[in-house]
Amino acid sequence: MIKRPRSSKRSPPPNEVARFLDLATNLSQSSSRLEDQFWERRLAQEIDSRLACGNESTLTASLDQLYNSDLPSYGNLVDAIESSAESTSQRGNDVADILLLAIPVLAWSRLPIPCNRIKPDILEALRTQLHGHVLAKDARLCLADHFFSPDQLPQSYCETYELMKKLGKSALKEEDYTVDAKALAETAVFLSDTRFLLGCIAVKREATLFRWQEESISRNDAIASWQQQSNAVIGQYFQACAFEVMAPAAYHAAIREADRASRPYSLAASMDFLKTVLASRSDAFQASVASFHSPRQVEEYRIGFGYANSNDILHGVVWPILDPEDESPEAMSRIEQQIRDMGVARVNVLRNRLPIEFCDDCGAPLFPNPEGEAMHAELPTDSNTSMPHQLH
Ligand SMILES: [Zn+2]
Repeated sequence: MIKRPRSSKRSPPPNEVARFLDLATNLSQSSSRLEDQFWERRLAQEIDSRLACGNESTLTASLDQLYNSDLPSYGNLVDAIESSAESTSQRGNDVADILLLAIPVLAWSRLPIPCNRIKPDILEALRTQLHGHVLAKDARLCLADHFFSPDQLPQSYCETYELMKKLGKSALKEEDYTVDAKALAETAVFLSDTRFLLGCIAVKREATLFRWQEESISRNDAIASWQQQSNAVIGQYFQACAFEVMAPAAYHAAIREADRASRPYSLAASMDFLKTVLASRSDAFQASVASFHSPRQVEEYRIGFGYANSNDILHGVVWPILDPEDESPEAMSRIEQQIRDMGVARVNVLRNRLPIEFCDDCGAPLFPNPEGEAMHAELPTDSNTSMPHQLH
């Protein structure tokens, strides 16, 4: 799966970028595992030195260039950067491989979804369950005592690397990490959103990280036990929310998986929300799906929900584009099918491209109605909801 690159803010020296392009291209042209390993080591050294001094403009500029000219090399470079930012092998120490983990929780609620400190007893219970179901026998663990919103996650590879180093240090001591919540970004309030439990595993060099690497248990069974057992504990934190605990995974893979899973989750959450606050069945509603474009490319899909007999929009969902295959016509058909499966009266798939637009007053995205017009979503003022919804 190829992810779109993050755009770089300033331009690095061209010879620096040329060096990364050269390494990434050599890696994708290599014809043997031995040669692969040579280029991977060289690439990792170069990347580590940039991350350690907080300078990633060369990395993001190299990604931008390769994304437009050479997708296989882009894939190699993005893998190498993500690996360096989320894991490390310390030399000269017997406890030495460190991996940053994320555990996403998808949630929706009519009240703001919690995003704050995790009480010590809940954190302790989560630690016990991770050791019991997910981690290798001798793995050491650090958990950060905060459920992060997407806005509060590290915003760059360098910040991810820094967090991995900090949590890794605590993991070596089997201690948890106290997050300075005041230093975190504010969280936007959404009906449906993701929260992330972050942690680090530390193991002896080249030792097993996870339970399924060392016992006769499959990854799926281990993760199913974790999901089942952690539900009650996580429910103490996510009060008044519907939620779904996802699999623990290496940081970047977990974020990507959460981004994908949150799209259908948020569609289903929106339907449940409308049925509850408007006391109606799903066949009382219709949905309209359209693609929204910038002058350069398709930016996202948006889905507008309204009553089956009206062109007004009650609520909307943004379906972000995460990789190039999301731009294909089948992507829209999959969205359409999911909405049909929810039992709405009608799904209108609009083939015209709409310009990406937001409300001038509140910045909310505008959503398509059945006529293909971009509208502000508004719930009736007497609906039973405490969600913030803008009226103007
Ligand atoms: Zn507005």
